[in-house]
Amino acid sequence: MKKTPLNKAPFASTQDWLAFDRKHLWHPYTSMVDPLPCYPVDSASGVRLKLADGRELIDGMGSWWCAIHGYNHPRLNQALREQSEKMSHVMFGGITHEPAARLGKYLVDLTPAPLQHVFLADSGSISIEVALKMALQYWYSQGKPERHKLLTVRGGYHGDPFACMSVCDPVNGMHHIFQSILPKQIFAPAPQTRFDADWQPDDMTEFKRLLAQHQHELAAVILEPIVQGAGGMRFYSPEYLRQVRQLCDEYGVLLIFDEIATGFGRSGKLFAAEHAGISPDIMCLGKALTGGYMTLAATLASTQVAMGISQGEAPMLMHGPTFMANPLACAVACASIETLLDSPWQQQVQHIARILREELLPALDSDKVADVRVLGAIGVIEMKAAVDVAVVQQQFVDFGVWIRPFGKLVYIMPAYLMAEADLRQLTAGMKLLC
Ligand SMILES: *Cc1c(COP(=O)(O)O)cnc(C)c1O
Repeated sequence: MKKTPLNKAPFASTQDWLAFDRKHLWHPYTSMVDPLPCYPVDSASGVRLKLADGRELIDGMGSWWCAIHGYNHPRLNQALREQSEKMSHVMFGGITHEPAARLGKYLVDLTPAPLQHVFLADSGSISIEVALKMALQYWYSQGKPERHKLLTVRGGYHGDPFACMSVCDPVNGMHHIFQSILPKQIFAPAPQTRFDADWQPDDMTEFKRLLAQHQHELAAVILEPIVQGAGGMRFYSPEYLRQVRQLCDEYGVLLIFDEIATGFGRSGKLFAAEHAGISPDIMCLGKALTGGYMTLAATLASTQVAMGISQGEAPMLMHGPTFMANPLACAVACASIETLLDSPWQQQVQHIARILREELLPALDSDKVADVRVLGAIGVIEMKAAVDVAVVQQQFVDFGVWIRPFGKLVYIMPAYLMAEADLRQLTAGMKLLC
């Protein structure tokens, strides 16, 4: 049964389409009953979002870690335009194209040396699914299908599909809703030694015990290196990663790094693994890969993993999304990486870190603040109590900044080129809550 004839000019005003949106469109992690208000954005340029009513907001979120060069960047726009005039998309089965090869070459060259083989996925969480599939298929190909479990730490976030969810923090990730179908994975405590702190050897005890206990059923360990993002915005010691690498080698377990949030400079190194000077066997990239223009992700594998799969009993990697290696996304990703490498991004990120420390650390004096953390171009104020997002969001917008808190966390990850005055406006906004 047809509903109603299509009205091709359905909305008379912004209020009109906002009302439709509110009633009919799901936004991330929302209910259809009385959702929090959404702010209509008309355009975005540099580090500013322009609201439908003409107000401009300084963007502290980088569209969730993605927009490292700011919005509407001439070089990325040009890459997108030029590629769209050649071809927007073409299947990747039996066909290939230069933007994919060039992106692959950049990724192989930039990531740690053992990572040589690239799977271009269509979103971050799918790159995690592919990484998990690689790990399990690797062991299947080795004649050890019993090695199909994953070891991770609490406080992690790896995406919302089922396999990803199974390695997200069991409490934050609301495992109880889906327990009947979620695979049961193994969880060590979240790393406790802070990024800059002296190493506490106890931090490894439970991880090591679980690895030893489950070694014969483990396919891989999966971690967000250095920065636990959506699971709590925590920064932990590089020594933790070095020890994990060593233990994985000792027990013959693969190591997967989820660098979807940390990749491309956010933590001060191009990839967070560099803080520890180690390489995983499999690495996932996403978010900033296209400078925030469109969805694209990559799973990189070592030759050992790629050959282990491909020379085994099940030699085909069984994954192939429709929009695999989308040429528009690949072309923009290449332009984004070129733009990054041509920029003084290390100095920019260090400069942001310095200002964030200067501005945010004094917030520790507030009774309402539990902790302040800064690493690279990431600044976090952890409050003692969860913030009222609806109220605080309005307060931020009135103050001219876009900052989206969750739970007790008020945090920013600005574009690397943000001017100091804009950055100080963002931190002043954060401190309104203290
Ligand atoms: C955002 C994120 C994901 C999921 O990526 P999507 O593109 O949202 O699917 C996975 N892991 C980490 C660490 C992330 O920050």
